Amino acid sequence: MSGDILQRLSTLTLHMKNPKNLPRLSDFIPSTLPSPSPTVTVSQVPSLFREPYILSGYRPIQQDWRCYLLSLFQRHNESLNVWTHLLAGPVLLLRWWANVGSLGYTLDASSLPLSLFLVSSFTYLFLSVTAHLLQSHSEHAHYFFFFMDYVGVAVYQYGCSLGHYFYASEPEWRESSIGLVFLPGAAFFGWLSCAGCCFAKSRYRRPYPLQRKICQLIPTTLAYLLDISPIVHRLFTTSWTQEPSLPFHALQIASFLLSALFFSFPIPERFFPGHCDFMGHGHQIFHLFLSLCTVFQLEALFQDYARRRDTVVAVFGETQLLWACVSFPALFAFCTLTALVTMRHVNKILQGKQGRDK
Ligand SMILES: [Zn+2]
Repeated sequence: MSGDILQRLSTLTLHMKNPKNLPRLSDFIPSTLPSPSPTVTVSQVPSLFREPYILSGYRPIQQDWRCYLLSLFQRHNESLNVWTHLLAGPVLLLRWWANVGSLGYTLDASSLPLSLFLVSSFTYLFLSVTAHLLQSHSEHAHYFFFFMDYVGVAVYQYGCSLGHYFYASEPEWRESSIGLVFLPGAAFFGWLSCAGCCFAKSRYRRPYPLQRKICQLIPTTLAYLLDISPIVHRLFTTSWTQEPSLPFHALQIASFLLSALFFSFPIPERFFPGHCDFMGHGHQIFHLFLSLCTVFQLEALFQDYARRRDTVVAVFGETQLLWACVSFPALFAFCTLTALVTMRHVNKILQGKQGRDK
């Protein structure tokens, strides 16, 4: 193994003399591990894996699983989709520790929603990284990992709702008709967005019709409108100078709206087909803005938590806070079950297709 490393280091020295031949990170993978195959063009992968206006940089299907894990260090058209969410994790963790140091934090009933928000953020980041890294293995893997990605999105939506409700909502809003049904509504729409996305992915084939986006966007938009309603109410009814969290809440909304724009439309690759394959396509920009949105949310919610932690238990009661704690894993489990049931349906379709292909 040490001889192998020395060989690779000497190769690096040679390459350094000629910067044009700089090695790729994948060159440092030990030779005992399988090496990911070079990327291929859009016509060389099944239609399920083809992205509109992305013409190259696809990883071939049916490689060893380890090749997809190692493709973390390979240049392909999903590299930045993976890294944008992979790097968001340490950034969140650093901001969490910085806020713990400056604003204080104790793990008790009053901090439960904040902790669940952090867990929900890591859940969606982890499931998204897994999906973009491993989905190219096969059609089965593509469906499974993206269904789990939708579970992550639903869990994140609910984690945000808990933070918004317990730390950022005003008493008048909580007494309104929306405020009264907010938490069960947020759980329902979280599940609905997961179910809608799973259904749309299993139902429609590429080239995707408009109905697919509608099935995905309507429940997700309804969930977002409900989740953000306590923040919008507060932004319009409270002085921004008295509440240090409000500029961060405004930034989280702006980042989310921009992320939604890039998720919904294939821009800029639509105008430059083939030129944004590796860097700059809409899904990468969507990931960037969503990561930014999460960081701004964390800043805002930590500020709100610091100001309200002494009154949270008195205002909501320990029972409601503990109920929120229980409902979070319950929603996670229910969404996972929905994804698995849809996966069973997809498996039958894929098996039928394999039978016809034989
Ligand atoms: Zn993604």
